[in-house]
Amino acid sequence: MAYKIMIDAGHGGRDPGAVYNGRQEKDDVLELALAVGQILEDAGLDVEYTRTTDIYESPSEKAREANNAGADFFVSIHRNSFPRPNEVSGVETLVYDAGGIKNQMAENVNRQLENIGFRNLGVKERPNLTVLRRTQMPAILVEAGFINSDIDNRLFDENFQAIAHGIADGILETIGIGSSGTMEQVYTVQTGAFRNEEYAGQMLDSLLSRNYPAFISEGGGYYRVQVGSFGSLAEARSMEQRLRQDGYPTAIIG
Ligand SMILES: [Zn+2]
Repeated sequence: MAYKIMIDAGHGGRDPGAVYNGRQEKDDVLELALAVGQILEDAGLDVEYTRTTDIYESPSEKAREANNAGADFFVSIHRNSFPRPNEVSGVETLVYDAGGIKNQMAENVNRQLENIGFRNLGVKERPNLTVLRRTQMPAILVEAGFINSDIDNRLFDENFQAIAHGIADGILETIGIGSSGTMEQVYTVQTGAFRNEEYAGQMLDSLLSRNYPAFISEGGGYYRVQVGSFGSLAEARSMEQRLRQDGYPTAIIG
């Protein structure tokens, strides 16, 4: 079974995102998202999009769409902006927190884009972003250069296909496709399985309030509260220890 990736072009419709000299973030990122998706499809992945046209959807709708689709990964594509133009340039990729396979994916995407000529501003934690917080699968948000940097816009326009390939390659190398062709194991730590959605929700809120990357996985009549995901058993074990110290019952799911 192929991995399912939800590709999200940021903003859209009445929300243009960042704007600079008539250039709108929502247009740049839609074009880039479609190009990245095409490359991933060609590589054999199951690709879905939050949008393929200029429409508006709230961040929580986008997260819900990815959750309902049962996507294995969520990749949101944006362009950055700084209060004063031409002061900052470069790429950065945002994640909910620093652990797990998403962090690896974010670093790989940044490195690919650095090879094309962007400054690499690194991987940043953004626990309050809805599309990173509310998605149940590993999620990254790629800021493909600053829209109010002439240097970055030139890079973006002149190397558009290379940028799309760089993002796609960063994703593919992380999930181990292209090299071995096999899927890597992903682990989560489960803290509870409830028939009652409300009980699951209470545990989720308690975990989120302590900044755990928790989510609910629904299926078979159960609401499973889980924390993750992690690319290695060692990472899952270290999270399990933290959770136990905070008094949660745990089981590693792999
Ligand atoms: Zn944006």
